[in-house]
Amino acid sequence: MQVRFASIDSRAHLVVDSTETHCDVIDVARASNGSLPSDPMDCFSRWDDLRTLASSTTTSTKRVEFERLDCPVPRPRQMFAVGLNYRRHAEEMGSPIPSQPLIFAKFQSSLNAPYANIKVVGDTVDYESEVVVVIGTGGRDIAQSSAWDHVAGLCAGQDVSDRKLQYSGTPPQFSMGKSRTGFSPIGPWVADMAGVEQRNSLRIGCSVNGERRQDTVISDMIFPIDHIVSYLSTICELYPGDIIYTGSPAGVGHGFKPPVYLQPGDVVETTLEGVGTMRHRFV
Ligand code: ZN
Repeated sequence: MQVRFASIDSRAHLVVDSTETHCDVIDVARASNGSLPSDPMDCFSRWDDLRTLASSTTTSTKRVEFERLDCPVPRPRQMFAVGLNYRRHAEEMGSPIPSQPLIFAKFQSSLNAPYANIKVVGDTVDYESEVVVVIGTGGRDIAQSSAWDHVAGLCAGQDVSDRKLQYSGTPPQFSMGKSRTGFSPIGPWVADMAGVEQRNSLRIGCSVNGERRQDTVISDMIFPIDHIVSYLSTICELYPGDIIYTGSPAGVGHGFKPPVYLQPGDVVETTLEGVGTMRHRFV
């Protein structure tokens, strides 16, 4: 059975079943009689054991509403993000097509739950729907051909951006404008992609107040997931639970003429095919 890994009340859980509004889960530490940890961050280095638990457990489940889901990776040691990884998005931002991955950081204090509120700060807050990679087995100098072996799974992510702050300064440095409180929601859970053939061609996108704004197949990435993991590992050691935002497709509010930014009251729904949906209300 595919591992779908969630955090609830700061404890690691496996999602056994889900509907549009709730999911049925088991507590990892309890279902494994304590042989697996309760802290979500200690589970990414035990991913094979989680797969075994997911396929063998007979523990009874409990039902939780999506609003109770925490950020599934609450304390990653590193949070990388790739800029301009889809051609049409680079064009709408008026930026050249990168010849190597353009990397910036999002900071841990900006992490957020998959169903939560996000405070609008200023008048240029924008959405970016992204695939988020969660590292299982870390390492350095990981070959592109074995990169997927180092991936625990994928989440949907929003790389919420304060455009004015992102582009301030000469040259601009993206990390601050992407790290305000609540600007890095991921979820709704980490879905194992081992053996999933479509993992390089999933659809990612979002709607704002029900209007579809972004909708792309991730095979359109300039640098695919295995390339990004391999590239990062030639510079930084990767650790279990590190997360990588892999870039936004076209359709962000900043690309409209004139730009259309998020306002208090807006609801953004972000869906990664094969994983799930997050919903955020901007307040
Ligand atoms: Zn982004």
